[in-house]
Amino acid sequence: MNYCSHCAHPVEFRVPDGDTLPRYVCPSCHTVHYQNPRVVVGCVPEYDGRLLLCKRAIEPRLGYWTVPAGFLENGETLEAGAARETWEEARARVEIATMLAVVNVTHVHQVHIMFRATMQTSEFAPGPESLEVELIRPEDIPWQLLAFPSVTYTLRRYLEGGERLHITEMARRKR
Ligand code: ZN
Repeated sequence: MNYCSHCAHPVEFRVPDGDTLPRYVCPSCHTVHYQNPRVVVGCVPEYDGRLLLCKRAIEPRLGYWTVPAGFLENGETLEAGAARETWEEARARVEIATMLAVVNVTHVHQVHIMFRATMQTSEFAPGPESLEVELIRPEDIPWQLLAFPSVTYTLRRYLEGGERLHITEMARRKR
């Protein structure tokens, strides 16, 4: 951040009085611009033993496969966000079930929350952010072509079965 989003004055990066971490602070209007992690919400939609995966039409990881997921909107519940993302990316209506995984992706300032879900009908189609959408049998999941480590983690935990909630932290990818 270079300029204050309230008054357009250049901001400073410093520890505000009484705080413990450096923040972007506007010396003109005194606004402290806090930056906190964003929530990504998604689900593993199942239909007749198969899982609905999307091939990404957008960067990052264009052309790689993912489960439907995206940023939670203000005023939206986790479950509603997961269902909305599934409609937007895969044109499928889902019933959101139990929480499957919480993935702390601290190096990109995100928390990913994934649910189990059931497709209410067999219908699906690519939304604008997907090149392809497919119902895939567990044995055919393209593990080498998954978009993100959190997707791999989510699908592996899903296939273990059961109803438990899995919590983990994803480290930065080694280059
Ligand atoms: Zn300002």
